[in-house]
This record gives sequence, C-alpha cells and structure tokens, in this order.
Amino acid sequence: MDDCVFCKIIEGELPSMKIDEDASTLTFMDIHPLSSGHCLVVTKRHAATIFEADDRDLEAAMVTAKRVAPPSGSRSGRTDSTCSRPMARRPSSRCRTSICT
Ligand SMILES: [Zn+2]
Repeated sequence: MDDCVFCKIIEGELPSMKIDEDASTLTFMDIHPLSSGHCLVVTKRHAATIFEADDRDLEAAMVTAKRVAPPSGSRSGRTDSTCSRPMARRPSSRCRTSICT
C-alpha cells in the first residue's frame, strides 16, 4: 500500500533496524520504544487492521514473536498483539514485542 509505513519498511523504502525476517514476517526495533528491546513484528502481506489479516500470516507473526522475544531483550516474553495501522491502541509499557499488520 502506498501510504503504509510498514509496507515501506518491508520494501526498504524506509530505514529500520531489522532483527528477524522470514517469508511472512519482518521484525525490527520500534523507533519509539516503550521499553528496552521493544520490537515490532509485522506481516509482510498488507492488512489495514488485524481483522483483515490472513489467518496464516497472523499465525506466522505469533511464531515469530515467540522466536524473537528473548533475543530482543524480553525477560517476560510478554507480547502484545494489538497493533494495526493506525494503531488501535498503544502496547502496554511492559510489552517487549508487538505484532502489527
Ligand atoms: Zn502495509
């Protein structure tokens, strides 16, 4: 999508500090972290909201969040699966990994 910041990051049109990538997801550090090591897991296939996202992409995002949470600095493994663009609500300050579409 032309106006989607996550799609622009995925396409390399905007810079990011990537920490993980697979066929369905990209993970990068949040530019406005709410806690140390806060990163975002985004689905590569665009969806305006989590409700429009493909179920297989959401499954892949959860598996990615589980894989990247410890290396990104999470002690709790706490993951917030709220984000969509625009974000419906901000992740909690205890969140270390956010899943976004
Ligand atoms: Zn997008």
